[in-house]
Amino acid sequence: MQDIQPKTNENIQKIIQLIEHKEINAYEGYIYISLLVSKNSPDPRTKVGACIVDDNFKMLSHGFNDVPLGYKSYQNWNNRNYETDWINSKIPYVLHAERQAIINAFKKQIVLDKKQIFVTLFPCHECALEIIESGINRLYYYNDENEYFGESQKAAKKMFNPCGVVFEKIEIKDKYLVKKIEEEIKNG
Ligand SMILES: [Zn+2]
Repeated sequence: MQDIQPKTNENIQKIIQLIEHKEINAYEGYIYISLLVSKNSPDPRTKVGACIVDDNFKMLSHGFNDVPLGYKSYQNWNNRNYETDWINSKIPYVLHAERQAIINAFKKQIVLDKKQIFVTLFPCHECALEIIESGINRLYYYNDENEYFGESQKAAKKMFNPCGVVFEKIEIKDKYLVKKIEEEIKNG
């Protein structure tokens, strides 16, 4: 499992407790936790977080976009020539948050059949393929706007419903969570 900073982890545990005590909406709570998880990504521009959760809203696994374990030499995050300089751009070196979460679950031998995944950004088609094949059948997302992956996200949307994965956009309306998000934006 990828490491999460201790302070972020403390915040995550607090939100999980609020969800358990039904003090906040579980769907909004896990979208917020995915946002906290995303903050661990080394990508300065696009930080994505994902959490896989069971029907009792127990967190099974998490992931954020990152280079693969052991490959820490990639520093070229600001090269955005994805098509003209693909080999030096981040595209081939980054494992997406959803796939990190799926792999982290498999490493713990967790069966993902009929589980739910919460993501900060709607998945690309490659993550969609793996979400479908993993058996996850519900996807909740915060945002689906991404300039590079627009077409890829469209393909993902085409696949999900016929393959039995329902998806829904979750807005954070809970006053406590809205305030937490505002605080984090202010503190960078
Ligand atoms: Zn992806």
